[in-house]
Amino acid sequence: MKQFKIIFIGLLAATFVVTSVLFIVGDAGVPPVAAPPAATAAPEIPVEEPAAMPEAPIKAPEETPDPVMPESEPVMASAHFVMEEYRCDCAGDCDGWPADMDPELLAMIEELRCACGSPVIITSGVRCSARNEEVGGVAWSFHKRGHAADLYCPGMPVGQLAALAQGVGLNILPYYSSGYIHVEN
Ligand SMILES: [Zn+2]
Ligand SMILES: [Zn+2]
Repeated sequence: MKQFKIIFIGLLAATFVVTSVLFIVGDAGVPPVAAPPAATAAPEIPVEEPAAMPEAPIKAPEETPDPVMPESEPVMASAHFVMEEYRCDCAGDCDGWPADMDPELLAMIEELRCACGSPVIITSGVRCSARNEEVGGVAWSFHKRGHAADLYCPGMPVGQLAALAQGVGLNILPYYSSGYIHVEN
């Protein structure tokens, strides 16, 4: 009987130890469950990336100056004149170019500019019918077809400018009182 009692107590002790070990191991196994909190912390990382986004838009403005360069490049009518100087200067009755300027006229005006040896100012180039009427131009004006221009040379008498214009082959009409000449071809 005494042997059974010892074995019984031994089994109880063993059972207690095993149970305790399982309990401790079980507890020890709980901490790993804390991993999920770490997973919830991950979503915070993406939040930091948007903070860097504002820097990107700031770089965009640097790229806009480049497209502006080509646009500001003027279309030349000849060596000393940009085509814009011959544009119809009405208040919006046309798109500015009711007709193209005649290349031969542009070449002769360039020749006149070189003969003057100083800047020549174009006060009127091509005109739409509305603009031509507004300035009192005749109905058959060469301005409407891009075959005429009004111009003057600062500091040069109208008579002298008119002579130089005739010298390069332009048909002229001098306006002495207004200080400019009308040229056409
Ligand atoms: Zn116009
Ligand atoms: Zn004119």
